[in-house]
Amino acid sequence: MPGFEMFGALERAEVQDVLDSGVLMRYGFDGMRNGHWKARELEQALASRMNTRFAQTVSSGTAALTVALASAGVGAGDEVIIPTFTFVASFEAVLALGAIPVLTDIDDTLCLDPAAVEKAITDRTKAVMPVHMCGSMADLKPLSAICKKHDLLLIEDACQAIGGSYEGKPLGSYGDVGCFSFDYVKTITCGEGGGLITDNETFYRNADHYSDHGHDHVGKDRGAESHPFLGYNFRISELNAAVGVAQIKRLDDFLRIQENHYHILEENLAGLKGITMRKVPETGVQNYSFMNFFLPSEALARKAQKALVAEGIDGCFYWYDNNWHYYRKWEHLTGLKSLGPVSRDVELRLSGLKNRTFPKSDHWMGRNLSCLVKLGWSREEAAQRGEKMKEVLSKILSSA
Ligand SMILES: *Cc1c(COP(=O)(O)O)cnc(C)c1O
Repeated sequence: MPGFEMFGALERAEVQDVLDSGVLMRYGFDGMRNGHWKARELEQALASRMNTRFAQTVSSGTAALTVALASAGVGAGDEVIIPTFTFVASFEAVLALGAIPVLTDIDDTLCLDPAAVEKAITDRTKAVMPVHMCGSMADLKPLSAICKKHDLLLIEDACQAIGGSYEGKPLGSYGDVGCFSFDYVKTITCGEGGGLITDNETFYRNADHYSDHGHDHVGKDRGAESHPFLGYNFRISELNAAVGVAQIKRLDDFLRIQENHYHILEENLAGLKGITMRKVPETGVQNYSFMNFFLPSEALARKAQKALVAEGIDGCFYWYDNNWHYYRKWEHLTGLKSLGPVSRDVELRLSGLKNRTFPKSDHWMGRNLSCLVKLGWSREEAAQRGEKMKEVLSKILSSA
């Protein structure tokens, strides 16, 4: 990732098609649109690639999470289990619905720890939302078993792992609903956009209506459509969808490139004593958008990240100190810094977060480095980068 490194003739042709008609709206305008239905086309391509019955495109990955939760019936007061290591969108989507995000430990997969999930369940838990961070996945089989046992929804955030799989199933298709982001830095991008996939017809119909103000999309006259329930505007535009249509056709090419580059980097680090790779569940196949590994200690991880940057190796993240992805820096959440008042229920039930720590998550995240795997590198560039990483890391490890 990111897919924008590969923009070319295909993307331009798809966008031109939309501009030629001037119809940027995904619904209606049948007479003017020269037969282009880019959002619909992207939905068909997504459902087909992910082997699900249905797909709904929306305006962002955050919108996909929100629409997925709403469509599956999550609402005010319901608890949704999310990991301590994720993107802020996880709790934003939950809070937007008046529901309660329940932060829960990760393990050496860097994703939700099934044992911690089981402990976090209460009689108000409605859904478990694992996040397949940095190209690899949560251990979905035990998570799914827990969800079945307690009658909970399993909603996969596959925004960072599109194209990966688990037990041979595309990530996102294992749980009740799966979510993707096509934002400006994801493996396939359309600027801003997202999508959700499901085999559940009711959830799909709900998503279709909810993401368009509750419109039921029955008949040809938009003005005459009825509104079976309240919705919102989470629509994608035809312009964005057009870029997505081109990019999803190239997904498997992108995955091959990422995998090749990943293996080049991995081979270089393979012999280094003190480096251990992040755990990928047994039946899992990553999408190879990041290479994640552990150093022996927090101090060494910090030192290694600094040394890599100093040697010109960009894109290696130490998420432990990062403002966006780890609970330690989410003061706006833990302090409930909301522009307007929040409900008394949300206030009460999140009040404990302020002083809460997650030592088990810290144990893994404090020692983790996460290095971006770019599509645009040549083979030589990937090889040079691998050699440089090996040199820098072995120096750090031997100084310990
Ligand atoms: C990018 C991302 C999102 C949100 O997607 P946007 O399209 O940027 O709203 C959600 N979850 C994860 C894990 C992400 O990486």
